Amino acid sequence: MKFTCPHCGEKTISPWHKARAGGMSSSGAHCPSCGGRCVNGKLNLIVNSVLSGIACIMVFATYFLHQTKMQLLLFAVIPMIAAWVLNFVFNMFFGELIPAMKRER
Ligand SMILES: [Zn+2]
Repeated sequence: MKFTCPHCGEKTISPWHKARAGGMSSSGAHCPSCGGRCVNGKLNLIVNSVLSGIACIMVFATYFLHQTKMQLLLFAVIPMIAAWVLNFVFNMFFGELIPAMKRER
């Protein structure tokens, strides 16, 4: 299963590359066929910010509500890792690729 490159319309982007292409503000992944750069679109941006937001809130809540190190681990570290993993998996399989807007350095 591959994703369609927004530049040449060929199915060239693997899920792994898509997940690593990043969001709209990153420089994106190169299409192996045309060399164009693509990033994950708006849907991914929204889902990724919501998931990171939830993780952030849990970390803050944990800071005020839990005292032991075990509780800190369970309610602060795990949500952050879970949010990162979920974002990665979501970017890997869902959402559209769009041309990268950021200029290449
Ligand atoms: Zn292409």
